[in-house]
Amino acid sequence: MKVAIIPGDGIGKEVLPSALSVLDAFGLDIEKVPLKIGYDKWKKTGSAITDDDIALIKQCDCVLFGAITTVPDPNYRSVLMLLRKELDLYANIRPFTPLEKVKLPCARKFDFVIVRENTEGMYSGVEELHEDVAYTTRIITRKGSARIAEKACKLANMRKKELTIVHKANVLKSDSFFRDVCTGVAKKNGIAYNEMLVDAMAYDMILHPGKYDVIVTTNLFGDILSDEAAAMVGGLGLCPSANIGDKYALFEPIHGSAPDIAGKGIANPIAAILSVKMMLEYAGHTREAISIFIAVNKVIDMGIVTPDLGGTYSTIDVSNAIIKLIR
Ligand code: NAD
Repeated sequence: MKVAIIPGDGIGKEVLPSALSVLDAFGLDIEKVPLKIGYDKWKKTGSAITDDDIALIKQCDCVLFGAITTVPDPNYRSVLMLLRKELDLYANIRPFTPLEKVKLPCARKFDFVIVRENTEGMYSGVEELHEDVAYTTRIITRKGSARIAEKACKLANMRKKELTIVHKANVLKSDSFFRDVCTGVAKKNGIAYNEMLVDAMAYDMILHPGKYDVIVTTNLFGDILSDEAAAMVGGLGLCPSANIGDKYALFEPIHGSAPDIAGKGIANPIAAILSVKMMLEYAGHTREAISIFIAVNKVIDMGIVTPDLGGTYSTIDVSNAIIKLIR
C-alpha cells in the first residue's frame, strides 16, 4: 500500500509522526510518500498546495492527514476541501464511541456514526463576495445525496440497521430534496429510518445519544454535529475520521492545527492514532486495527494521557506507551 503523508501545520506536525510511529510498530509493507502542504508552505512559496502535490497524492492508495491552518487570505480555498473534491471523497465517516475510562459530560451508553456529505452543500465553493453583500450557493444534487445515502445504508446494514436522516426541510428546499432522496434510498435498501430537524438533533443527541446508530446529513450540519459529538466523547483529541470515495480515501483527526497548544508537545495523539486504525480497517488489516483500539483504551486506563484529558504526559509519551503495549 502506498500512503501520502501530510502532517500539515501546528499540532498536525506533532500528532501525525506519533501516529506513524504506532503504524511502524506493525512492520507492514507500506510505502510512505511525505508531502509538505499547508499554511507553512504558503508562507514560503505563496501556495498551500501545488498541482504536483495533487498528482503525487493521486499516485497513492490513500492519505494520512494531520491538520492545516487556514491561510489568512480572502482568496484562499481550503486545501482539505480541494482534496475532498479532487479525490472525490464524498463520504466523511465520523464514529463516536466513548473510550473506556474517559470522563464524559453526558450519558455513557452510546455508539453512533455521523456520515457527512463531503463535497457539496454549503461547502460547494460557489461564492460571491461584494462590498455590502456576500453569497454562498448551497448545492444539493440527486447524485450527491443518493451516494451518501447509499454509504450510510451500507454502514447501517453492518450495524443496527437504523438510519437517522438529519436536515432542515421545514425551511430549506434543498434539504427537503436531500431528505426525499435519502428516504428513497433507505426504502430501497430495506433500512428503517427516521428524520430529525438539525436543531432538534443538536439538542436530542446530548439528551438521548443512545437512540442513534447511523446519522446521515449534509456537509455543514455534519461538520457542526460532529464537533458537538466530539465534546460528548471527551474532546477533539480523541476523534478520528475517514473521507472515503470510490477510488481514494483520506484519514484524519477531526481537530484542527490547534495553534494555542502547537509546539508544546502536549497535543493528544489519540485522534490521529485512531485515524491510522480506520486506515488499517479500510486496508483489511483488522487484527492490527483491533490491537490499536485495545492499546488506546489501556493507556487511558493506565492514566498515560495528555493535559486535555487531565494528564501530564506528552504526545510522544502516549504514542510510546501505545507502541509498548502493541509490541
Ligand atoms: P482546533 O480543532 O484546532 O482547536 C480547538 C480546541 O481544541 C483548541 O483549544 C485546541 O487546543 C483543542 N484541541 C484540538 N485538537 C487537540 C488535540 N489533539 N489535543 C488537545 N487539544 C486539542 O480548532 P480551531 O482552533 O478552531 O482551528 C485552528 C486552525 O485549524 C484554524 O486555522 C482552522 O481553520 C484549522 N482547522 C483545520 C482543520 C483540518 O485541517 N482538518 C479542522 C478544523 C480547523
